[in-house]
Amino acid sequence: MDELFKNVITIFNEASKTADISTSIHTILKQPKNEIIVNFPVRMDSGEMKLFKGYRIQHNNILGPYKGGFRFHPQVNLDEVKGLAMLMTLKCSLVGLPFGGAKGGIKFTPKDHSQAELEKITRRFVHALGNNIGPNFDIPAPDMGTNAQTMNWMMDTFLNTSGSLDRQCLKGVVTGKSVKVGGTKGRAQATGYGAVMCIEEWAKQHNHDISQKTFIIQGFGNVGSWAAKRLDSLGAKVIAVNDCVGTLHMKDGIPIRQLSEYVQENGSLEGFMDQELLTREEFFAMKADVMIPAALENQIGKDEANAAQVTLIVEGANGPINNEGDKILTEKGIEIIPDVLANSGGVIVSYFEWLQNRSNDYWHEHHVLEKLHDKIIQAYHEVHDLSIELNISKRQAAYIKALKNIDEVYTERGIFP
Ligand code: GLU
Repeated sequence: MDELFKNVITIFNEASKTADISTSIHTILKQPKNEIIVNFPVRMDSGEMKLFKGYRIQHNNILGPYKGGFRFHPQVNLDEVKGLAMLMTLKCSLVGLPFGGAKGGIKFTPKDHSQAELEKITRRFVHALGNNIGPNFDIPAPDMGTNAQTMNWMMDTFLNTSGSLDRQCLKGVVTGKSVKVGGTKGRAQATGYGAVMCIEEWAKQHNHDISQKTFIIQGFGNVGSWAAKRLDSLGAKVIAVNDCVGTLHMKDGIPIRQLSEYVQENGSLEGFMDQELLTREEFFAMKADVMIPAALENQIGKDEANAAQVTLIVEGANGPINNEGDKILTEKGIEIIPDVLANSGGVIVSYFEWLQNRSNDYWHEHHVLEKLHDKIIQAYHEVHDLSIELNISKRQAAYIKALKNIDEVYTERGIFP
């Protein structure tokens, strides 16, 4: 079993015991409703035909249409996507969205392919999925290895193959599109900004001044880079960034805007201002106030947790801390703002995009970010208050809140037949 799925199930089991969740709901949620696997051929630029394997896991839709990203990454596998889909169900429930949970992906390395090949792979995938996705049924979004361009191709393929004339409403078949083709302002930065909103609230509660705090960030993709930019504009110091080539460390603070431009041009932080890179181990052992893991899952296990010297960890990624790491960090008194809360900004703003597509409306960026703030901060306080009331971690509190909400809906609706 994939480690992420195992970790999610373990916390899920603990939370449902603590929260007294009915056994039938526990049984329903333990496995996804639908597991869709498609194999589809794509002709490469060289003329060679290659077969790709794509997944879409629809975990649960009691609260509304399935919702969650598509990941293009060499590590994608069925169990990983199952774990991520379950996290989406919990995330949407926790922050009060009328969506269920899903996740999907294709196992391959995007950077090994040309734009033309990426477009063909994406379009064939959507074609292969057929009616398994739809604006009122299952709504994909970007995740690791995918972006607004991927979503634009997906929407375009869906519109061209669905046979329906209701073009406007169908735009909501995917979220995270570029603004010109029906996306929303604020979606690109939403996940990173949402994580920083949680940090600001945490700082307020502890009477801390963010501009006096130091931050270390793992991953400089969509989530990590926008979180860094936001922290930078609040005057905070980001002293280290780790990516797959190593760790950039500048003790007086990294010039984030320059780094962001550099990474966009060069693909990684290697060579930035001729700095020598430190190792991954040195990153996790670095002394700072806040760590934001914003890369892959299972990054913080026993060794990294033992080495950690931070006060707070904010999970920008999904599942970056495994169960063993979580226990050690909790024993060490390191506070964690869990993924289902910390990175929920992305799906919250996806919901706003979907609403705008339904009504053919376009919201101002400040309106989007203000509404994002309201939703994520409300969830932050609900999780915080429950964790104090029951003397449990924020992760357990978040799971319990999310599960209770789903449990209540199942109880009121009943289970068919
Ligand atoms: N992939 C993002 C997540 O893990 C966003 C999902 C969405 O917007 O539907 O939350």
